[in-house]
Amino acid sequence: MAEFSLELNEDQLQIQKWVHDFAETRMRPAAHEWDEREETPWPLIEEAAQIGLYSLEFIANAFADATGVMIPVVMEEMAWGDAGIGLAIFGSVLGVAGIMANGTPEQIAEWLPQCFGTPEKIQIAAFGVSEPDAGSDVSSLRSRAVYDEAKDEWVLNGTKTWITNGGIADVHILVLSVDPELGARGQASFVVPPGTPGIRQGQKFKKMGIRASHTAEVILDDCRVPGSCLLGGKEKLDERLARAKEGKKVRTQAAMATFESTRPAVGAQAVGIARAAYEFALDYAKERKQFGRAIIENQGIAFKLADMKTAIDASRLLVWRAAWMGRNGKTFEAGEGSMSKLFAGETAVKVTEEAIQIMGGYGYVRENPVERWHRDSKIYTIFEGTSEIQRLVIARAISGIHIR
Ligand SMILES: Cc1cc2nc3c(=O)[nH]c(=O)nc-3n(C[C@H](O)[C@H](O)[C@H](O)COP(=O)(O)OP(=O)(O)OC[C@H]3O[C@@H](n4cnc5c(N)ncnc54)[C@H](O)[C@@H]3O)c2cc1C
Repeated sequence: MAEFSLELNEDQLQIQKWVHDFAETRMRPAAHEWDEREETPWPLIEEAAQIGLYSLEFIANAFADATGVMIPVVMEEMAWGDAGIGLAIFGSVLGVAGIMANGTPEQIAEWLPQCFGTPEKIQIAAFGVSEPDAGSDVSSLRSRAVYDEAKDEWVLNGTKTWITNGGIADVHILVLSVDPELGARGQASFVVPPGTPGIRQGQKFKKMGIRASHTAEVILDDCRVPGSCLLGGKEKLDERLARAKEGKKVRTQAAMATFESTRPAVGAQAVGIARAAYEFALDYAKERKQFGRAIIENQGIAFKLADMKTAIDASRLLVWRAAWMGRNGKTFEAGEGSMSKLFAGETAVKVTEEAIQIMGGYGYVRENPVERWHRDSKIYTIFEGTSEIQRLVIARAISGIHIR
């Protein structure tokens, strides 16, 4: 009996169709408006919550899928609908991943429901690592968490930047330095509960793409959180710091543990944008006539579409492989998570640009969605690790050499 299969099972197909319907009927028609408004599309998040799409139960079931492929399938359909709105709806999942990567079972049980709230009272989450002086180099975080033993509280100070849902989130999961001398090994993740004083939004950024997704600075000013908000607990942290100080190997750092698990999901979003642009351009190329024939009858156009489809399918295969490996505890020996995000992100940029080219002037104007898809695609070579950083991860993994 052949056990290997790339076919989605019945459950996966059903969920895929359900998400696709939401993407097609709710997200697509709203995409232009929210891109122009550059605001969080609360009505769409509410709709998603009402049908159970924006809910812990849905995300937990998708994560539980034994093949690992369910999350990428969902993310691809959402981004096919609209990447900005998709990120506004599922930005909270970054926070969820941050809690899952480092939290104890009790912390997971306490905080995951708070990342979503209820359909009546929606809550959202944010995951913040990046800082003005620590982007690709997450080992150089400056924001500090200092333990106040007398009160069993952590005092958080510093500035996070580029944070999706930053400052508007109910629950912030933030990676801070507890021992700057130890670099990345001296970092830990903290939950900042809803309504905590001392945390606020700084500048909100106006962006090139994914403009329905809120991106802002988060400023921490003597922000005090209970000792229990340290993900993983104090005992584990002390043990880890002691081992690091002795120069021994320590478990993956807080930030990296989160990114490893989220990269295939981010790659899947890039696949969704690329697919949207490819489908649009294919239809257009069959319709548009120049020199008395459809433009697709020219190899110059048809071969572009052939290359676009090939690259999209290759991206999806890399994403599914990494997601399957992650879910089934396989070690990323060659940076497979990074490969998926790298290839899918760069494919999305290329494919959306080619889609504009295929459409000529019509591709360049805002009445058609292709220029928006191109703008949206670019972030996929930047966030969750730039393309250069993905190459660095892969190069180090395959060579065993600390390439700089
Ligand atoms: C819209 C948006 C949403 C975001 N959401 C979040 C979020 O929710 N949470 C969060 O923590 N962060 C978030 N980020 C931050 C994002 O992850 C960072 O922007 C990204 O990691 C790059 O960091 P940087 O912008 O500081 O660029 P830099 O690190 O300054 O990089 C600048 C350039 O130098 C290159 N470079 C740097 N080091 C090397 C090297 N060693 N070798 C080769 N090239 C190198 C980079 O690849 C890049 O091309 C978001 C960013 C954006 C724009």
